[in-house]
Amino acid sequence: MEFGGLYSCRNCLNPLALGDDLVSKNFKAKSGQAYMFIHAMNVVLGPKYDKQLLTGLHTIADIHCSKCGEAVGWKYVQAFDLKQRYKEGKFVLETLKMIEQY
Ligand SMILES: [Zn+2]
Repeated sequence: MEFGGLYSCRNCLNPLALGDDLVSKNFKAKSGQAYMFIHAMNVVLGPKYDKQLLTGLHTIADIHCSKCGEAVGWKYVQAFDLKQRYKEGKFVLETLKMIEQY
């Protein structure tokens, strides 16, 4: 998929993800819409924990901007439902926390 562009931290403009790594724009976070990426960069992973989401139980880790420390989303570490396994290792970034740059 080709979306181009770069997604950066809204707070400090630290680049967080590439448009080319965007998998889906169809995710929801507490703050609103969120995007899923194959990779994220310049992020710090928090401790892993289990969370019951709309699509079942997942082990996730919150991710923070490596520069300003702002919580920007989460990483799917493990999905317990086979149908959700494609999410494992992928990153979800909240659109409210980032800006799209070209
Ligand atoms: Zn930042």
